[in-house]
Amino acid sequence: MKEFLRKYSQFMIGRYGVDDLFYFFMAFLIITGFFPFRIFGKVLFVIRLLVFAFAIYRYFSRNFTARQKENTLFLKLFGPVKKELKYQFGRIVNIKKYRYRRCPKCHQQLRLPIKKGKHTVECPSCHHEFETHIYF
Ligand SMILES: [Zn+2]
Repeated sequence: MKEFLRKYSQFMIGRYGVDDLFYFFMAFLIITGFFPFRIFGKVLFVIRLLVFAFAIYRYFSRNFTARQKENTLFLKLFGPVKKELKYQFGRIVNIKKYRYRRCPKCHQQLRLPIKKGKHTVECPSCHHEFETHIYF
């Protein structure tokens, strides 16, 4: 086993390895692996195969510049999605403590304490005041 690891690390010298895009591809492959084959079928199978091949190609690639460009582009595109997912996840985690509203003027997300009824809220970033209702 030690010999294998030594050979493997020698083999990986000068190769790209993992980055955020690689983890994204792996997450995609794992999640789509749970999709029922009968519904998504052969098209998804081909897409998964291509994603897997591309991920492996990138992993062993020696062209660092091109791989880093791909990763930068991915982060630029996926950044806002990741932020929104994190926000929505936070809403679920804090459902017993807070309610979330967006400022109608600047779209800043506001975290409000749970006080039932109608309230006037002032946005901390643009100082716009607006009415909101917390139902439960
Ligand atoms: Zn605002």
